[in-house]
Amino acid sequence: TQAAGTPVHWSVVLPDEHATARLAMDLAFALAPGDLVALDGDLGAGKSTLARALIRALADDLALEVPSPTFNLVQTYDLPRHRVVHADFYRLGDPSELEEIGWDELADGAIALVEWPERVPAVLAVPNRLEVHIAMTPEASDTTRRVRLMAYGRVADALRRMKAIRSLIDL
Ligand code: ADP
Repeated sequence: TQAAGTPVHWSVVLPDEHATARLAMDLAFALAPGDLVALDGDLGAGKSTLARALIRALADDLALEVPSPTFNLVQTYDLPRHRVVHADFYRLGDPSELEEIGWDELADGAIALVEWPERVPAVLAVPNRLEVHIAMTPEASDTTRRVRLMAYGRVADALRRMKAIRSLIDL
């Protein structure tokens, strides 16, 4: 047994979009208010696809409309069990814009999903977080993705407890 909060690092290969959605549904069980999920990867890697599946899982509504937050930067979901904020910082000009949009207040007590976190490294300063790096693998197939997951704090503990879940079996 490992000390509480010991980081967890692992990687999974996802053959298609269904596998990505299933991974997101499994990951949703590990998340709690105050946690941050950072998604990075090239354009078209699948950050939005994974974020959408995560939000739908957190909402218990697989048909939930999940618009892209690209233009208004942040989309908020007041779900029955928790608030979710979904941010896409691709178009964030300057980190000071974070203050303008009131990011700290929005994220406080919510489950925060952030695409393009590398634009604002400061948002990663959350102890309970999951970093998801998605890479395309054209040498395998058009729909295959290699996903590297790094979990810290409470999220790492939650994922360790979920080892039995199929898409996390390599944990
Ligand atoms: P990003 O947000 O990283 O720019 P998107 O999620 O918007 O990427 O787009 C990913 C595209 O790749 C979608 O058109 C999706 O259908 C496709 N795709 C194919 N295979 C996968 C996969 N295994 N996981 C996620 N998306 C996939």
